[in-house]
Amino acid sequence: MIAAQLLAYYFTELKDDQVKKIDKYLYAMRLSDETLLDIMNRFKKEMKNGLSRDFNPTATVKMLPTFVRSIPDGSEKGDFIALDLGGSSFRILRVQVNHEQNQAVHMESEVYDTPENIMHGSGSQLFDHVAECLGDFMEKKKIKDKKLPVGFTFSFPCRQSRIDEAILITWTKRFKASGVEGTDVVKLLDKAIKKRGDYDANIVAVVNDTVGTMMTCGYDDQLCEVGLIIGTGTNACYMEELRHIDLVEGDEGRMCINTEWGAFGDDGALEDIRTEFDREIDRGSLNPGKQLYSRRFHKTLRRLVPDCDVRFLLSESGSGKGAAMVTAVAYRLAEQHRQIEETLAHFSLTKEMLLEVKKRMRAEMELGLGKQTHDKAVVKMLPSFVRSIPDGTENGDFLALDLGGTNFRVLLVKIRSGKKRSVEMHNKIYAIPIEIMQGTGEELFDHIVSCISDFLDYMGIKGPKMPLGFTFSFPCKQTSLDAGILITWTKGFKATDCVGHDVATLLREAIKRREEFDLDVVAVVNDTVGTMMTCAYEEPSCEVGLIVGTGSNACYMEEMKNVETLEGNQGQMCINMEWGAFGDNGCLDDIRTIYDKLVDEFSLNSGKQRYEKMISGMYLGEIVRNILIDFAKRGFLFRGQISEPLKTRGLFQTKYLSQIESDRLALLQVRAILQQLGLNSTCDDSILVKTVCGVVSKRAAQLCGAGMAAVVDKIRENRGLDRLNVTVGVDGTLYKLHPHFSRIMHQTVKELSPKCNVSFLLSEDGSGKGAALITAVGVRLRQEMSS
Ligand code: ADP
Ligand code: MG
Repeated sequence: MIAAQLLAYYFTELKDDQVKKIDKYLYAMRLSDETLLDIMNRFKKEMKNGLSRDFNPTATVKMLPTFVRSIPDGSEKGDFIALDLGGSSFRILRVQVNHEQNQAVHMESEVYDTPENIMHGSGSQLFDHVAECLGDFMEKKKIKDKKLPVGFTFSFPCRQSRIDEAILITWTKRFKASGVEGTDVVKLLDKAIKKRGDYDANIVAVVNDTVGTMMTCGYDDQLCEVGLIIGTGTNACYMEELRHIDLVEGDEGRMCINTEWGAFGDDGALEDIRTEFDREIDRGSLNPGKQLYSRRFHKTLRRLVPDCDVRFLLSESGSGKGAAMVTAVAYRLAEQHRQIEETLAHFSLTKEMLLEVKKRMRAEMELGLGKQTHDKAVVKMLPSFVRSIPDGTENGDFLALDLGGTNFRVLLVKIRSGKKRSVEMHNKIYAIPIEIMQGTGEELFDHIVSCISDFLDYMGIKGPKMPLGFTFSFPCKQTSLDAGILITWTKGFKATDCVGHDVATLLREAIKRREEFDLDVVAVVNDTVGTMMTCAYEEPSCEVGLIVGTGSNACYMEEMKNVETLEGNQGQMCINMEWGAFGDNGCLDDIRTIYDKLVDEFSLNSGKQRYEKMISGMYLGEIVRNILIDFAKRGFLFRGQISEPLKTRGLFQTKYLSQIESDRLALLQVRAILQQLGLNSTCDDSILVKTVCGVVSKRAAQLCGAGMAAVVDKIRENRGLDRLNVTVGVDGTLYKLHPHFSRIMHQTVKELSPKCNVSFLLSEDGSGKGAALITAVGVRLRQEMSS
C-alpha cells in the first residue's frame, strides 16, 4: 500500500499545480501521512537535482534525457525491427505499423537465449551474439535484403545525447559484459553487424523499456505522457518541459525523461523508513492478487488528485512494440525533418546568391536610367524632380496628403526656419473603404477631397489657398514636381480611370467639382522621397530613402548625368526607384518559391511587384500561411488538419510574425497566438510555425539588404570614392516593429557592401513632413523663377 502511495505521490509530482491539494488529502489518510509527505518532498528534491546541471552528478534519481521528443501522433507507418535486450528474455520483433488499416500494428517475434557465459563475457562477444540473432531473425523472415530501421530497447541506465546513441552508465540485473560501460552500445552493435556483412541495419533509436511502454500506449492514446514499469524492477518516465532539463540544449518543446527512480534511496535517503517500507513490500509480494495492488494504486491516486483525470493503460509488450514505436516516431520525425529542411532551404540565401541579387538589382537600375532601355525596364528609376535635400530655410504652412499606405491622412505642417526652426504637425486619419479603393477614379478623388474639406473645417483653416504636397505612394512618371502620371496601381488599390493620368490633375479637378475651396497643388511626392527628405532635414548625410511597410520601395540621390531620361547633366536628382517591381521580368524567378508564386497568383496585381512580394508587410504573413497550409497537407503540422482559419486569405497577418518571433515570447504564448487565430497547435506545431516565420522574415530582410547594397555602392561609384559614408532614412511598420528585420537587413548591407558605412535613421512621419518640406522647396523655387 505504501508502495502504491509512493507511486501515487510520484504522479502528483507530475502535476505541479496539484501539489498543494495533497496536504488536504494527506491528513485524511490512514497510513503514516507525515512520513509519506516527507518522502514525497525528498523525491521531489531528488527529481529537481537530477534535472539540474549542478546537482545531477550527485543525484540518485538520474532523470536521464531520452531524446524522445514527441509521442506517436497516429500517423506513423512502416516496417521496423525491434531488439529487446535487458528484460527477462532477449527478443527480436518485426513490427509493421500502418495507420490506414484496422489492424494497425502487426507483430512477429522470436525469443533468443542469452547464455550466462555471454552475459558475463566480453562486450564484443555479447554484441556479436546480438548481431547473430538478428541475422537469424532476418533470415527467417526473409528480410535480409532490406535495410529496415531498427529500434533498440536497451533497458539499462544510459546517457544519451542523441536518440540513436546510448552510453551505458552501469550494468544492472544479471548482465556484466566487460568493456561496455562508458561506451555507446549503438556503435558496438553497428560494428558487430558490419563485421558480419551479410545484412544491413539502420539503428534509428535506443530506448529504455519505460519509454517503450509510454510510446506503445501513446500510439493508441495521445494523452499518454507517462510510462510506468512495475515488474521485476520499477521505473518511470514522463514528458518533461525542455526548459526544465538543464542537460539538454534548448528551451522549446518537451522530452521524455527516464527517471531511473529505482535508485531513489541509494544514498540512504530512505534508511529511516526502510523497515516499514520493506514490510509493506513484503506483504504486497505475499499477496497473489496483483490487480489488488493496481486497484489500490489507482484509488489512492484518484483520491489525491480528484480533478485530474488520470487514466491507466496496460501496455502490451511495451518494450518490443514500444521500441518499434519510438523507431517509427523517430523515423517519421527524421523523414519529416528532412522534408521540412528541404522545403525551407529554398528560403535560405547564401552570400553568393545575395551578391547575385545585388548585381541584378544594379543591372536593372542601369536599365531604368538608360534612355534606350527605360521603356522596357521593370525597375523604373523615376525622376522625382526633387533636386536637393532641405537646406533649413524652408518656411510656411503647408497641407499634405498621404495616400497609398494603410491609412489615408490629411496633414497641416507648419515649418519654421532660422532660430525658431521647428516642424509642427496636425493630422487626421480617414478611412478609404475598399469599394472606393477599387471603384472609379472619380469616386476615389471625390472621397479624398471630402476628407480634405472635413480636415480644413476641423482645423478652422478653410479659406486661404494653401500650398499642398500630395504624397502618392504608387509608381508615377513625373514630368515636373507637380505632375505625376500613374503607371500602375500596387498594394490594395485598383480604382479605374487613373492609370495613365496625372494624379495632380485628378486632384485639382475633384477640388473644382466640389466648388468649396481651392488649393495649390505644388508637389506630387513619393513616400520614399518624403522619408529621405524628412531624415535629411535632421541629418544632411541622408541621401537614401527606404520604405518597408505595406509595400517596399527606395529612392536615392542620383547624378543628373546618369539620368538619361531627363535633359541636363548638372547636379543631382532624387530617383524614386520603384524597386518593388524588381524581378517582374523573371530575373528573380530562380529564388522565388512555389509559395511566392501562390501569393502572387492570388494578389490583385498578379505577376507584378515580385520583389516587394518577398519583402513587405502585405505579403510576408501570406507567404507563411501558404507554407503552413502545405505543411499541414503533408502532415507536418496541426495533425494534418487544414482548418477554416488557415484557409482564410489574409488571416495570418505580418504583425503575427513580429509577435511569434519575439525572443521574449515563450512557446506557450506562441501557442496562445495561434489559438487566437483558430489554429489548434501542439508544442511541436508552435516550434515549426516559429521556424517558418523566422525563415520568411529573414529572407525578406536579406533581399531588402541586397537591394540596398546595390544602391549605396552605386552612389559610392558615382562619386569615385573608396569609402562612402551615407545615411538611409527608413519608414514602415514592418521595419520598425519586427524584432529581427532591421538587424538582419543592416548586417546584409554591411556584408554585401563592405566599402560603405551605412547608417539607418528612422523617419518620423516621412510622408507628411517630407511632403511639406518638398512643397516648401517647390514654392521657394517657383518664387525664385518668377522674380
Ligand atoms: P504603409 O506602408 O501602409 O504606409 P506602415 O508603414 O504602417 O504603413 O505599414 C503597415 C504594414 O505593416 C501593414 O500592412 C502590415 O503588413 C505591417 N505591420 C503592421 N504591424 C506590424 C508588426 N507589428 N510587425 C510587422 N509588420 C507589421
Ligand atoms: Mg507609409
